[in-house]
Amino acid sequence: MLVRLLLLVGCLLALGLAAEDFYKLLGIEKDASERQIKKAYRTLSKKFHPDKNPGDESARDKFVAVAEAYEVLVDEEMRRIYDQYGHDGIAQHKQGGSPRQHHDPFDLFSRFFGGSGHFGHGGGQRQGPNMEVRVAVPLRDFYNGRKTEFTVEKQAICSTCEGSGSKDGKTETCDVCGGRGARIQRQQLAPGLFQQVQTVCDKCGGKGKTIKHPCPVCHGSRVVREPETHELHIEKGMPKGVRITYENEADESPDWVAGDLIVHLSETDAALGQQDHERTDGTFFRRRGKDLFWREIISLREAWMGDWTRNITHLDGHIVQLSRKRGEVIQPNTVEVVENEGMPIWHQHLPEGVDEAFGALHVEYVVVLPDQMEKSMEKEFWSVWEKWRKKKGVVLDKENGRPEGPIKMPDGHDEL
Ligand SMILES: [Zn+2]
Ligand SMILES: [Zn+2]
Repeated sequence: MLVRLLLLVGCLLALGLAAEDFYKLLGIEKDASERQIKKAYRTLSKKFHPDKNPGDESARDKFVAVAEAYEVLVDEEMRRIYDQYGHDGIAQHKQGGSPRQHHDPFDLFSRFFGGSGHFGHGGGQRQGPNMEVRVAVPLRDFYNGRKTEFTVEKQAICSTCEGSGSKDGKTETCDVCGGRGARIQRQQLAPGLFQQVQTVCDKCGGKGKTIKHPCPVCHGSRVVREPETHELHIEKGMPKGVRITYENEADESPDWVAGDLIVHLSETDAALGQQDHERTDGTFFRRRGKDLFWREIISLREAWMGDWTRNITHLDGHIVQLSRKRGEVIQPNTVEVVENEGMPIWHQHLPEGVDEAFGALHVEYVVVLPDQMEKSMEKEFWSVWEKWRKKKGVVLDKENGRPEGPIKMPDGHDEL
């Protein structure tokens, strides 16, 4: 027993204890799905790619390790072996001649992002076109911040044939053009007069290679269209129309390195939802930069006599209380500015050393006059007005010195 234990310890030391757990390395759970494994690989391989970390040896090691972890965990058999026997088991399995070829980490990278496995600025690699999409979210999400997801359909490298377009992984040199992709044709312009014309080879379409057994999934085109889901982190106070860049997540092709996916974040039209948090007054706030705007309707009595309170529910459900004491008059269309009840200011726009700040909420008061009144009520109001009109009333026209009839204009021209 002791001998066996010592042997085991010896083996572990020989293999190097530095080998990090594959799951930890990819930042995923033990029961991660294939999709999650792929997602983790995509994120980490871009982060640690040597082209993005020139001269950083530890990033390069990580890049290689991430590729290794991916190749083990994405393969059902290898994953089972790893789960049971760890790095040890994988090493033995590889010695035993695994049927699956071990990929060069740059090769693997190119199967995900196209091109030769390097970024544009590195080896003069062409970068594909960027892709732009619009994602609209309610104002509430801009206020509270939110983590959500969106899905886009894009062109992806066919994973069945790993971008070769061939069922058996074999491609042959085109026998018509001899791999040049072009053919020289002689055209007779007139008797004895010829012209040489270069045309694209129609057998291989200019690729110089043909495929005898095309891949059954992509039919030889090397790419497929498929939906891909991305995480979207809406940060508190992000401005409308902000552009969020997902590096190298646009259309893929074996001929180029995928360009960037750019998300334009916009605001949906306000609409009442079914749930309480979708039915706050805030749902209908209007936003301009860091400020919010709201129209509050008050009655004639409230505007004139005061003595009222209002609870306005904000975008996160908290209450902004507005009130006036008896005798505090509000003129129609008055705007009250409530400081710090506007939008949170986006962290990128905050001054140094400030953690949090808010804009203002502008409340415009709209006074609504009743157009119907009970007869008895009308009578009472009328008599009050009459009483005070007789006592203190003034005729404005007289006060302002206005004439009782029209004023006649002088005719003819005045001399200057
Ligand atoms: Zn294919
Ligand atoms: Zn050809």
